Amino acid sequence: ELKGNIRVFLRVRPISAREEANGDVAAVSAVSALEAKIEGGKRYELDHVAGPSASQSEIFEEIEPLIRSCLDGYDVCVFAYGQTGSGKTYTMEGTPADRGITFRSLASLFREAESDYATSSYSFSCTMMEIYNDKVRDLLEPDAANPKPHDIRQGADGTPYVTDLERVNVSSTMDVMAVMRVGGAARKTGQTDMNATSSRSHLIFTITVTATSKTNAGRGEVTTSRLNLVDLAGSERLSKTNATGERLREARHINKSLSALGNCLNALAEKQQSATESKTAAKHAAHVPFRDCKLTHILSPCLGGDSKTLMFVHAGPAASDASESACTLEFASRVRNVSVTAARKN
Ligand code: ADP
Ligand code: MG
Repeated sequence: ELKGNIRVFLRVRPISAREEANGDVAAVSAVSALEAKIEGGKRYELDHVAGPSASQSEIFEEIEPLIRSCLDGYDVCVFAYGQTGSGKTYTMEGTPADRGITFRSLASLFREAESDYATSSYSFSCTMMEIYNDKVRDLLEPDAANPKPHDIRQGADGTPYVTDLERVNVSSTMDVMAVMRVGGAARKTGQTDMNATSSRSHLIFTITVTATSKTNAGRGEVTTSRLNLVDLAGSERLSKTNATGERLREARHINKSLSALGNCLNALAEKQQSATESKTAAKHAAHVPFRDCKLTHILSPCLGGDSKTLMFVHAGPAASDASESACTLEFASRVRNVSVTAARKN
């Protein structure tokens, strides 16, 4: 499948009881599986559009092949983007009764790994961090009272990594869910309003897959790949939040990192496009500004030409959110842009 390696999906959540009670009406809708529109506004083409009736399992079906490719040696990044309340955490985590992408992806990873037993053996480990005001917080830090400071360094092969992150070996979905519960609790410490906290920081959960080939042809070949599941901070604009003081500082960091992410994905898409044209064009293609913020710097090894990226953009349907949803869709269109080359195996 030679689809581009940066794909952009849109999910429009159902209108909520509260919105309905306030007399709000739906203004963002799916025209088709590939197009969305805003009432009285523009139409937007995307790689996939899921309307309010899309179930968690339908959403997962769309991304399952991507998860599988992680076992085949590709780095994968799944981002949830959108304003606070648009459904990012619902898509990623879901509810215990109706799990989201994270649980379903892990279950699929472990199931597939098991069914590959004749040809490969796998081991898994994970890390979980939060980026708040452009600072890394290790959510699995064992000594929460004396957290280690974190830096981004270059490994021997030039790949950036975060220093002193706690890494936990896992071998089942239940193992990972236990780790995520620990990490989730660390996220809440000292915070009174959980939703407020989660909307102001980026959550990066990474599972690292080490595959060892057992076939005669590939005996002993080891590949390492990563699946990054990223629940981004809320994308709402400053003007609407009336932020001052600490809130304003947070909002500035969020704006800066989300635009850096957009710029990087855009530059990557351009680069891929020029690579299909000529080597010279590729050389002169835009520089990818990974170092503009921690979020993109940390994820840079998983965003380049060898990886697969899915930007899961979320929009509330309500008319009162229409201008915010328009911004979200503009971001989505800009990220989606070009890209036709196939991703390369690690
Ligand atoms: P975000 O993480 O973007 O701030 P949430 O995922 O917390 O937003 O969603 C806000 C509210 O809307 C939650 O109560 C959530 O359960 C609900 N919600 C979001 N998406 C859906 C959906 N697709 N179907 C049903 N309820 C949803
Ligand atoms: Mg959330």
